[in-house]
Amino acid sequence: NPVKTRFAPSPTGHLHVGGARTALYNYLLARKTGGTFLLRIEDTDRGRHVEEAVPMILADLKWLGIEWDEGIEAPGQAGPYRQSQRLPIYTGYVRQLIEAGLAYCSAEVAAEPDAAVPAAEGAKGPMGFRRPAQLPTKEQTLAALDGAAPAAIRFLCPGKDVTIHDEVFGDVCIPADQQEDFVILKSDGFPTYNLANVVDDELMGVTMICRGQEFLGQSWRQALLREALGFRTPLYAHLPLIMDMQGRKLSKRDGDVDVHSFRKAGYLPEALVNFIALLGWNPGGERERMSMKELVELFSPDRIGKSNAKFDREKLLAFNTDAGACADEDRLLVCFRDYLSLNETPIPGGDAGLLRRLLRINKGFRTFADIPARCGVLFKADTDYAFDEKAVVKVLVKGEPTGYAVLAEIRGELAGLAWEAPAIESWVEKFCAARSLGMGKVAQPIRVAVTGNTVSPAIVDTLVLLGREKTLARIDRCLAGKTV
Ligand code: GLU
Repeated sequence: NPVKTRFAPSPTGHLHVGGARTALYNYLLARKTGGTFLLRIEDTDRGRHVEEAVPMILADLKWLGIEWDEGIEAPGQAGPYRQSQRLPIYTGYVRQLIEAGLAYCSAEVAAEPDAAVPAAEGAKGPMGFRRPAQLPTKEQTLAALDGAAPAAIRFLCPGKDVTIHDEVFGDVCIPADQQEDFVILKSDGFPTYNLANVVDDELMGVTMICRGQEFLGQSWRQALLREALGFRTPLYAHLPLIMDMQGRKLSKRDGDVDVHSFRKAGYLPEALVNFIALLGWNPGGERERMSMKELVELFSPDRIGKSNAKFDREKLLAFNTDAGACADEDRLLVCFRDYLSLNETPIPGGDAGLLRRLLRINKGFRTFADIPARCGVLFKADTDYAFDEKAVVKVLVKGEPTGYAVLAEIRGELAGLAWEAPAIESWVEKFCAARSLGMGKVAQPIRVAVTGNTVSPAIVDTLVLLGREKTLARIDRCLAGKTV
């Protein structure tokens, strides 16, 4: 059956990989069933809200190829899709609850902490709120709602156990004694996460809620609100936690955690999507490498696991290396340009022919960052690179004949050579053969001379890319002993 799913981020910064997984699974569920995927911005927690994060999150999703059918930038029947633009709607439902005797004002003056922030680890159970012995009357509460006094409105819990049927975690019961009357409207006039989330899921026709496990503990509040407001019960699928390799909560401490950081670091979106898809789900069997299209075909919620997922950065790097090797050049060019636009490198981004050449001669790269690391020096000024001392000693100073001696000979011959790959290639071969030198004995001194180091693409590619003039200028600089 077609499901309507949603991704409902609270904008506080770039999209976290955990959020990206939630978005991806919701997208896949919708695509798989021929349903609809909706994007809603939950910006009712004004203390944590970061306005610039909204376009950032949209850009991160688009980069991953996770497109939404309805929501921000894709208006539908149920908009607006930013909660801060829907305040009267929420107040209407709060009024309805008050009139039904299911909500009352309480005297908090300061804005209430928003329950969208999952309770700190270990802080289970009641939050320490005690229901007043004498509840305010309906009239007092309505007056507070209408602004007579700054007050929060709380939901009056019915005092019964709540069971959530979750597609992943099974039946989860939250007993009455672990519940307490919770805030639905804060004294700043904004609804809490729980109220706004429930109202919007109903009005926007959401039929399946798929989100991180940290929200499972909140679900009893939402279930009670749904019941009190006569709303439908959606399907739930909570996703396992994502941990680092040491089994701790994934955090910045051991590397990037935002989608944008991986983009900037030179990852391909298809590799990241493939990797993220496997954080808590697998298609069964040995299969791991999947395109978005294949993910849509293979995804099914009954293969989402309960146990914590491991964020294995080595595996992601391997995925990226493979994705880079498999992608066609046009695709790589688009992504490489994107990488260059986000990073300051010596490589000029405007020349498509040059970028294609760089992609070809750097085949096997792990991330795009490998390309400037290996080739960036070729685009710097001829006097603007440093010589690695170890490389100089090993390649130029030691040995018999020394690299310097070989280089001096090379300099003489290079000057008269036609500067094309085949000519340079056959010259290198002849030069080696005539002196019974191994390829390394010739290529490495050139490499150290023109790059300052022992890492660069194949020597012929390096020289062609650099051009005759720059090559000779660099060799001269090196022979003049300007290597320190
Ligand atoms: N706004 C919540 C968040 O920050 C949404 C949680 C939910 O999907 O219900 O992720």
